[in-house]
Amino acid sequence: MLNIVLFGPPGAGKGTQSTKVIEKYNLIHLSTGDILRAELAAKTELGIEAKKYMDAGELVPDEVVIGMISSKIDENKDSKGFVFDGFPRTQKQALALDRLLKSKNTAISMMLSLEVEHNELIKRLLNRGKDSGRADDRNSEVIEKRIKVYNSETTPVIEYYDYQNKYKSIAGMGTIDEIFNNLCVAIES
Ligand code: ADP
Repeated sequence: MLNIVLFGPPGAGKGTQSTKVIEKYNLIHLSTGDILRAELAAKTELGIEAKKYMDAGELVPDEVVIGMISSKIDENKDSKGFVFDGFPRTQKQALALDRLLKSKNTAISMMLSLEVEHNELIKRLLNRGKDSGRADDRNSEVIEKRIKVYNSETTPVIEYYDYQNKYKSIAGMGTIDEIFNNLCVAIES
């Protein structure tokens, strides 16, 4: 299996690039953000609970997202692999993901980390907020909070994969196709 963690701060382009990567390599896209927003749209208990955290730019509790990912992996047993987008966001989630994949006799192949300058992130998020309907993209304070949470709680995930020799830094500035090409080179090397 080819199991990729697509990593990077909010606004790095993980969603956009995931769509292209899954198409090219025939993988399943698992985005915890998308799953949470679908739960919210369906007004499930999980979605309503998660909304509080998402609107504040904070992380949803580890147990919740780990449980979600676990069931999605089970639902896609015959896939050629997964692109994990927005997960893991803490070292605890990274450890849980390793355990889940191990129980299915597979593992993370690589972690690709999109590097984007701070000002560019803010610009992209505010732009997305104009037409995506995402409340968390419309408010500059919530955006800054998400980037802060990324820097404090999520960047330790880099060390986790670096220790396993699976971390690759990818230039995330430029056109969508240029960045996609950077990812493909890393995936195939
Ligand atoms: P972005 O990366 O643009 O901030 P996402 O769509 O990945 O947005 O996530 C939106 C929100 O959903 C996050 O701010 C967070 O509240 C919640 N969330 C998504 N994935 C996770 C995760 N793995 N762990 C905890 N919370 C998460």
